Amino acid sequence: MKTILVTGGSGFLGSNLCIRLINEGNKVICIDNNYTGRIKNLDEIINDPNFLFIKHDVIYPLSIECPIDEIYHLACPASPPAYQGKAAIMTTKTCVYGANNLLELAKSKKAKILLASTSEIYGEPLTHPQVECYRGNVNPIGIRACYDEGKRCAESLFFDYYRQKNVIIKVIRIFNTYGPKMDPNDGRVISNFICQALRGENITIYGQGDQTRSFCYVDELIDAMIKMMASPDDFVGPVNIGNPSEFTIKELATKIIAKIGGISKIIYCDLPQDDPSQRKPDISLAKEKLLWEPQIDLDHGLEETIKYFKSELIIRGK
Ligand code: NAD
Ligand code: UDP
Repeated sequence: MKTILVTGGSGFLGSNLCIRLINEGNKVICIDNNYTGRIKNLDEIINDPNFLFIKHDVIYPLSIECPIDEIYHLACPASPPAYQGKAAIMTTKTCVYGANNLLELAKSKKAKILLASTSEIYGEPLTHPQVECYRGNVNPIGIRACYDEGKRCAESLFFDYYRQKNVIIKVIRIFNTYGPKMDPNDGRVISNFICQALRGENITIYGQGDQTRSFCYVDELIDAMIKMMASPDDFVGPVNIGNPSEFTIKELATKIIAKIGGISKIIYCDLPQDDPSQRKPDISLAKEKLLWEPQIDLDHGLEETIKYFKSELIIRGK
């Protein structure tokens, strides 16, 4: 039985990961400050004797008494409205100090550590699809920089701990992922569109909706994370993890309206600054090294996600 520490464990991806790791027979220590996370995401394991939740902000160092075999470092807000604005400085600190604190813990425990990095490190990409060797096109002073540059700096710290201090690292670059346990109010496109359609509200497309994204269903993303952690120590990444099927945001809105029906109309709103115009992962490396390739198409994934949001909105009475 392994002891695995997951930061960001009450969030969308982190809670799906903690549940999977417990179901696979591990001890899991979950660290989160609940900024965008929700303890209710962990309802099914919160009383499990192999699960421990510790409320902690990763901006500050943490000490853990027991041995730790593996660390999945996910703590960081991921939705633009949650990481920008008043949260921007905290986001940079979370990315940079958080990475440093968790790397120090990994070093002291001799634990393997995985960083949940992001496709955002490619910024407004000038190559398409994005390959890991592409160095990106990020605006370092824009409103997304706290997240994009924060994650770039976290990657840099991970590789320096690998080179200088022999910490075994794993870096994955996650592309847009969706599914059960997303927060209905978190502001990302799939949660927004589904909840708007279920509530009979207007569907808010930012810009003309010609920008593209490639959406991966959460279960398959968790498979990839676990495969990456189990990969040989000399495979450190970075590796793109995402579903390469690409859709415009207008196509996504049309699909969701068709599936849910109702009275919602599309309205067009301002496009936020530095919103990337296209994004699609080249996953050749993940296919070769992890033998991983997504199978769940957007239609099926959306149907599962709609079921989840229907029950979430009924529970919340809205
Ligand atoms: P989320 O916002 O649902 O989860 C993030 C979790 O981190 C939350 O539980 C939040 O409370 C916690 N957190 C934030 N700041 C913290 C801090 N300072 N100390 C302790 N906990 C803190 O987002 P998510 O979609 O689950 O994303 C998880 C990770 O995956 C993030 O690192 C994100 O950058 C990365 N990622 C996600 C996606 C995606 O599409 N979901 C894409 C790229 C990268
Ligand atoms: N988006 C949109 N309407 C919304 C929320 C988002 O049109 O209500 C757009 C957003 O401008 C972006 C895309 O959908 O082009 C994906 O946004 P999200 O915040 O989910 O992820 P990210 O921009 O980080 O890829």
